[in-house]
Amino acid sequence: MARDPRHDILFEPIKVGPLTFRNRFYQVPHCIGAGSDRPGFQAAHRSMKAEGGWAAINTEYCSVHPESDDTHRLSARLWDAGDVRNLRAMTDHIHKFGAYAGAELWYGSAHAPNMESRCTPRGATQYASEFETLTYCQEMDLDEIARVQQMYVDAALRARDAGFDLVYVYGADSYIPLQFLSRYYNHRTDKYGGSFENRARFWVETIEKVRKAVPNDMAVVVRFAVDTLLGKDGVEVEDDGLKFVEFADDIVDLWDVNLCGIAEWGENATPSRYYASGHHLHWTRFIKQVAKKPVLGVGRYTDPEKMLEVVTKGYADIIGAARPSIADPFLPKKIEEGRIDDIRVCLGCNVCISRWEIGGPPMICTQNATAGEEYRRGWHPEKFAKKTSDDSILVVGAGPAGSECARVLLERGYTTHLVDSAEKIGGHLNSIATGLPGLGEWGFHRDYREQQIAKLLKKNKHSVLALGRKPMTADEVLAYGAEKVVIATGSSWNTDGANCVSHHPIPGIDASRADQLTPEQVFAGKKPIGKRVVVLNYDTYFMATSLAEKLAMAGHEVTIVSGVHLAHYTHFTLEYSNIMRRNHELKFREYGEHYCTRVEPGRMEICNKWGDGYKASYRGKGVSPRNANTSHEWIDFDSLVLVTGRHSDDKLYRELKARKSEWSANGIKGVYVIGDAEAPRLIADATFTGHRIAREIEEADPQYPLPYKREVAVWGVPHMPGGKFEIEYKT
Ligand code: ADP
Ligand code: SF4
Repeated sequence: MARDPRHDILFEPIKVGPLTFRNRFYQVPHCIGAGSDRPGFQAAHRSMKAEGGWAAINTEYCSVHPESDDTHRLSARLWDAGDVRNLRAMTDHIHKFGAYAGAELWYGSAHAPNMESRCTPRGATQYASEFETLTYCQEMDLDEIARVQQMYVDAALRARDAGFDLVYVYGADSYIPLQFLSRYYNHRTDKYGGSFENRARFWVETIEKVRKAVPNDMAVVVRFAVDTLLGKDGVEVEDDGLKFVEFADDIVDLWDVNLCGIAEWGENATPSRYYASGHHLHWTRFIKQVAKKPVLGVGRYTDPEKMLEVVTKGYADIIGAARPSIADPFLPKKIEEGRIDDIRVCLGCNVCISRWEIGGPPMICTQNATAGEEYRRGWHPEKFAKKTSDDSILVVGAGPAGSECARVLLERGYTTHLVDSAEKIGGHLNSIATGLPGLGEWGFHRDYREQQIAKLLKKNKHSVLALGRKPMTADEVLAYGAEKVVIATGSSWNTDGANCVSHHPIPGIDASRADQLTPEQVFAGKKPIGKRVVVLNYDTYFMATSLAEKLAMAGHEVTIVSGVHLAHYTHFTLEYSNIMRRNHELKFREYGEHYCTRVEPGRMEICNKWGDGYKASYRGKGVSPRNANTSHEWIDFDSLVLVTGRHSDDKLYRELKARKSEWSANGIKGVYVIGDAEAPRLIADATFTGHRIAREIEEADPQYPLPYKREVAVWGVPHMPGGKFEIEYKT
């Protein structure tokens, strides 16, 4: 298909300093957990985007020196020749596809905990990080300022040696250049503090030094949080924001503008739960009024119409993207080829960020199961190995796992029957997307699979999508005539209160009672819900707070009793702070760290999780080692909502396993289980399991993953910059 001529402007080349970008699509720096330590992952993930049509692709934040070490998280580093060599793999692979590569030079100050290097971070003024735990920096004197600036220069020269075309002096997310500019951090009274010119001095000098050091064919980029969303205490766009752009414009080749500080960086990496695409424009649209150099900005742009608006209305020259490029590395190519329906639209769920925030590489993506798997499993998001047999495959369950499995099997050319008792593809995601406030965009996961499966079925005449049929039984599956069967029947919320703390049912909890409801029963809307609702929570993600919000908005008085840290996982998806603000606005009553001991009609007994004796001591067999919990109290409810634990709906799988002896007589070679039916996990994990088994369906035992390539330092292979392979102690 041809590109829509209205989109031509997105494909116009643009000059950026000494470079000419082939189009207006730009992967801004974003974390993936590859750093310089996993060169294969880094090279394959980034170059996939070069293949997918992006004009320039960047590293994640790239440390200039061991004084800026973000361990337990993994950043890129340009500390020594080993890092240069490893990042060279990235730039070489990007260049093969005609794109440019950029390194985002980073010095974190007190926001880098330096747990590996054990160096002392430096800052404009001494402060304790509002983001890290117990991390202070030392206030720099003039020698140290020059020393840190030299770190940027040295790292920029290493970036040159590694083959980068663009080098950043990164000052968003509250890192050191912004700390000097912002009155929130900078309390100095010397020539680096006070007036705007003084506060801008560190950054401007650093840019000048880097520019002078690197060759003329490299572009110098500044990433700048043009508004830190702290009002006059920080950087405001119409004050220091615009002033700085005007002040430094002559020495910058490209402005990469974004928002906010590090403590709430979800206001920049905006979850769809709270912000629509393009939210940043309220602030970033001002920059073009003063910048003579090209400006780019992010805004979770996946829709070419929105991108057109950004460019034609003069808000930015270039479309910056992190998450849209993860969910669909081929976004530019698809727009270029007029294949808008084929775009895998980012959900704005921030699960990609969550894995990196926890410190667990690789990054994963809910929409794109191949993200992070490019090198180690050899998965390309748009290319699939052709089928190796004529086996037909029955997939039972069309939720995230089953629909992804069927999609990939169809891509591979397998005859695939995808069967579900529900009327729609999507499984439990349908209730989340339609039944919970703010989570509508998560439905893009279903939409993508629905569209792709419909297209693939047209090409594969023997394949079938059968929705709205009776739930399949083991007899039916055995008689179906498929050679391989994949069970993707999902999971349900517990009806008896069993949870991650008790591991047993809670006395009196029974969702068959009129005044108790599982989340599914709330969504089904068949049971009346009373005025006073208690949500009993043992889940650390979104369900309890989302249901509480839904019910409060419908006029119920909501109390949350939480046996675990409420919404803990949303710290990592950057949704936590606004979830808590919303809880406050909706006036929920909350019993944090309380668990439920029993339920009676209309009331439940709870107690403080830490209400038992602080000291464990041996008191003989059968006697608790702690003093009894005396914190019990009763609370009343009209309805009790049970967000306790989940269990796999694996009855069908287990029955089929138990009848293994009947498989061969029925022509069945194997029965496998995926997704929540195997174990309830994130939607991203369910999607991954479906994708993986479809890629490996002809392996000897597709139930269990093939090994993947690991990138580890191997004893006996030279390290850079050197070191012997004996253990030597300095005595
Ligand atoms: P996952 O996240 O693992 O994909 P979901 O719970 O979202 O799991 O989806 C499971 C799907 O399986 C649901 O759409 C449900 O209707 C369907 N399903 C469950 N049991 C059967 C069955 N026996 N026959 C047909 N469909 C089933
Ligand atoms: Fe988008 Fe979610 Fe994928 Fe991140 S994990 S890229 S937010 S779909």
